[in-house]
Amino acid sequence: MSIERTFSMIKPDSVRKNVIGQINSMIEKAGFKIIAQKMVHLTMRQAEHFYDIHKDRPFYSDLCNFLSSGPVVAQVLSKDNAVSDYRKLLGSTNPLEAEEGTIRKAYGESIDYNAAHGSDSPETALREISFFFNNLEIFDR
Ligand code: ATP
Ligand code: MG
Repeated sequence: MSIERTFSMIKPDSVRKNVIGQINSMIEKAGFKIIAQKMVHLTMRQAEHFYDIHKDRPFYSDLCNFLSSGPVVAQVLSKDNAVSDYRKLLGSTNPLEAEEGTIRKAYGESIDYNAAHGSDSPETALREISFFFNNLEIFDR
């Protein structure tokens, strides 16, 4: 298995709870390297663009309102099998169904406020990473 990159976002609920460091600690303990990181406050338009794959779903406007409701921490993570391993570390989309030891079990409250995001495929990861970062902002090491 070769080193892979995934995109992570610590969502506004976690930033408001002041658990950025605790989530980063879970990420690092699970063997990921944080190779890029920045705090940004997305506009509604940017949130809509980020989640445009969900534009026909009934929860789209609530989701975009939430995502643009406060700052987020955007990150690039690297590890063998990063995309699927980070989805496992996040746990189920609905924190009430998330397994013990996952980020959403520890910090998620509901399907709307579920603590953090992770790319769902290597192709999505590329698209999401380039939405937030240019190559000069990513530090493989
Ligand atoms: P994310 O993309 O945020 O990492 P995910 O990949 O686990 O989450 P998606 O299917 O991509 O889940 O949904 C994106 C977001 O939309 C979820 O994080 C959740 O907040 C919201 N969502 C998904 N499904 C539902 C639903 N059935 N009802 C309400 N909100 C939902
Ligand atoms: Mg998703």
